[in-house]
Amino acid sequence: MLGVLLGRFICGFLCPFGWLQDLLHKVPTKKFSTKKLKPLTYIKYAVLLLAVVLLPVLIVNDLGMGDPYFCKYICPQGVLEGALPLSAVNEGIRLALGKLFSWKLVVLISVVVLSVLFYRPFCKWICPLGAFYALFNKVSLFGMKVDEHKCVSCGKCAKVCKMDVDVTKTPNSTECIRCGKCISACPTDAVSFQYGFGMLGKTVDENAKIENKTNKKETKEEL
Ligand code: SF4
Ligand code: SF4
Repeated sequence: MLGVLLGRFICGFLCPFGWLQDLLHKVPTKKFSTKKLKPLTYIKYAVLLLAVVLLPVLIVNDLGMGDPYFCKYICPQGVLEGALPLSAVNEGIRLALGKLFSWKLVVLISVVVLSVLFYRPFCKWICPLGAFYALFNKVSLFGMKVDEHKCVSCGKCAKVCKMDVDVTKTPNSTECIRCGKCISACPTDAVSFQYGFGMLGKTVDENAKIENKTNKKETKEEL
């Protein structure tokens, strides 16, 4: 339901781990572009299919229960928000930490370092929830709109987008987290959020075609 209503707006504005990556990326060091690493964005769909759906369904215990493979073996949030603070204040938990904790700590440290160097690597490449919401971006009611009459093709929106999206070409891109940076960057106010049906998610060319059709229809009716 949230996917249909909001799409990846959830990644942009609701997910605490997305926020943490945003903060980490503010650390003043050299930054690297992810534009040439686009194929890596497909990894998150494999994680969704394998670790969230297939493995828990196919590998089950005597009671027919599968492990939550993603949460147990990949997701670094549990370590950051659970294991680390709990073990810091509870000696029993500290003594119980084993190989799984060490592995998850390695994952967490890797994600932290990558987040400093790249913008939101976990959201782009690994997160299965991001992949799930990405699938809804094309149909979600909340989306982006570009006014083709105002757009002067300056390219500033694509340049400012840290998710490597050109909103004029793919306003409903699976990678768009609805952060709104392209809206602020556009010198002609051509980009805006839109909520609802209709022109949502169309490219500049598609919008122009739709508008031409509507105008022709109205002219015919007037005649
Ligand atoms: S920044 Fe605005 S005017 Fe420039 S290409 Fe993007 S939508 Fe068009
Ligand atoms: S800058 Fe625009 S196109 Fe890029 S992620 Fe943010 S809202 Fe989406």
